[in-house]
Amino acid sequence: MTDREKSVVAGRRPGERACPRCGAVFVCGNEAGAQSCWCAELPPALPIPGAGSGCYCPACLREIIAQQDQAGRKS
Ligand SMILES: [Zn+2]
Repeated sequence: MTDREKSVVAGRRPGERACPRCGAVFVCGNEAGAQSCWCAELPPALPIPGAGSGCYCPACLREIIAQQDQAGRKS
């Protein structure tokens, strides 16, 4: 890693992270110091398998919840 790359990493905003599904960069409200995260307003989704930390970006989280909805409606 070059010095320039290090400074880019260090300059990240608090709570900023990359989505494990699509790689999009988004900000987790909880980690950024907000009272709550935008994800708290969405229905709970499955935790990321094996990730241990983090959450999906808003777009992926909505897609995953929609897919779970559809799967749940099949009877
Ligand atoms: Zn994503």
